[in-house]
Amino acid sequence: MTNPTAVELGCAGAGCTNSPTVQWRRRSGQNADSTDAVHACNQHAIGLELAAHVHAAGCTAPDPAKLPGCGCAPEPIPNRQPQQPATPELPPTWAGQTAPAA
Ligand SMILES: [Zn+2]
Ligand SMILES: [Zn+2]
Repeated sequence: MTNPTAVELGCAGAGCTNSPTVQWRRRSGQNADSTDAVHACNQHAIGLELAAHVHAAGCTAPDPAKLPGCGCAPEPIPNRQPQQPATPELPPTWAGQTAPAA
């Protein structure tokens, strides 16, 4: 069977045939709005902190000379705001009501 996507599941280290254990994401060279997965084995993994970032399209990781660094300036991690439940709209006569000041 020839499945072209199966090739991408190997370790990204040059000439490495180990089974990948980790992955991170790299900006797609074709489409700047999407990212490509980079897989690596234990020997070719970048640092965990780096793996949390999206890397530049031209990132050379995993480069054995730079591991566990990668040689690019990864994109900042987006600040995920926790979803706050929307405050329900109150009738105007209820809004801002506090205990009556006797
Ligand atoms: Zn490898
Ligand atoms: Zn990188």
